[in-house]
Order: sequence, then C-alpha cells, then structure tokens
Amino acid sequence: MTKESTIQRMSSLLADKSPGEIIGLAHEEFDQDLMMTTAFGYSGIVLLSFVKDVYPNIPIYFIDTTYHFEETLKLRLKIMEKWGINIQKVSSHRPEAELLGLMGKKAFESDPDTCCYYRKVEPLENILEENTVWLSATRRDQSLTRAQANVIDIDGRGHIKVNPLFNWTRDDCWTYIRKFDLPYNPLHDQSYPSIGCTKCTNPVDLGGDERGGRWIGLDKTECGLHISAPGEKGNE
Ligand code: SF4
Repeated sequence: MTKESTIQRMSSLLADKSPGEIIGLAHEEFDQDLMMTTAFGYSGIVLLSFVKDVYPNIPIYFIDTTYHFEETLKLRLKIMEKWGINIQKVSSHRPEAELLGLMGKKAFESDPDTCCYYRKVEPLENILEENTVWLSATRRDQSLTRAQANVIDIDGRGHIKVNPLFNWTRDDCWTYIRKFDLPYNPLHDQSYPSIGCTKCTNPVDLGGDERGGRWIGLDKTECGLHISAPGEKGNE
C-alpha cells in the first residue's frame, strides 16, 4: 500500500474524531513507526496531555539546540515527572567546537538558516527513519504556511504526519490548558506567544502575530524542522 493510499484511507477514518481518538487510531495503524517531537509550546503541551493518556510510550523527542530558555528546559523535567513520560533530549552529534568551526560564533545572527540546520534539522534527520510517522501539534491558525494542514498529510520529506489539533485555535488550546490546569512555559505569560532559542526569540506586543517574535529583523520565519510540502518550510 502506498503512503498516498494510506493517507486517503486514514483521512476519512480520522475525520471528525477528537485528538485522543486520532492518536489512538494512529497508534493502531502505525504502531512502532509513530513518534513525536516537541519544544513545549502551548499546543505541544495540549498534544502531550492527550498522548500521555492514550499512548504514553510513544517516542517523544526534544531537539536541544543548547540555546533554549531555562524555563523551557525546566518545563521538560516538570512534565516528565508530573506525567510519567520520557521526553528524550536530542542534540547535534557534532561537538560544540566543530559546530562553531563550521558556522562561526554568531551564526544565529549572520546565517540563521545554517545555524538551524546544524542545531535542529540535522539532529532531527538523524532520528527519522524511512517509515517514521510524525505526530505533530500543527494547527491551521498558526501561520499561512500551516493554513492548509489536514488531519493527516505527507510532508516535504515524504513522511506521514498526523495533526490531531489541526483545526484547534489558539483560544481552544488556552481554554483547554486552563480547564485542566496543564503546566506550560511561564514565558507565555510574559508576551512570548512562540518560544524557540534565546538568541532568536523576543516578546511581541499584545495581539501581535503569533510568530512575530521569532528571528526579528530577518527574512526568516521558519526553522526548517517541519516541511509541509516539497520545497516549502513549515513551522517549529
Ligand atoms: S533558532 Fe536561532 S539559535 Fe536556534 S538554531 Fe535557529 S538560528 Fe540557531
């Protein structure tokens, strides 16, 4: 069976299901091939809260660029302890000296695409296998590049991606977080709607674009972890 026919069959199976049901059905269908990555943004927290109930043993990865906020690193530990799930930290296989030699000391300013490649994308590609199916917290309302997301898609690397929150809004997520008192990154309460590396994340004005604080002043809006269609970069 091709990936395209799997997508077709699963699309109707998953349509109109709740996130928990979608994760359960994806687990039944893809079993060991299913994995998740998270940087602990608020939609990732919502997704993790469903995952811990439905498929707590799914491999979960956090890609550590070494530039994350202390709050993000602490949140990972807090969630693992509170929910009893393992979230594996993945970093570049290259020693720091080699990375700095390849890119220079301030690549996050001079060449952020290369910095994101070596610190995020390459480590991710080292854990992806041919049949990996990716569980993602992608939502349509996050950005223009995500507006076409479906409950199940094939991404630009050819991997099947399951998006249980694809039609949830920012408000839906926060209502859910508050209703169930979920842990979340305290930086969200300090005007950081989207949180990545310290070097490239800034607060935004109230009501500003969700990703407006990322790579300010640069012609860059995405890190390249998620590629939503061939040649098109998606969001972290
Ligand atoms: S977000 Fe910034 S610091 Fe982090 S990997 Fe990308 S360019 Fe480097």
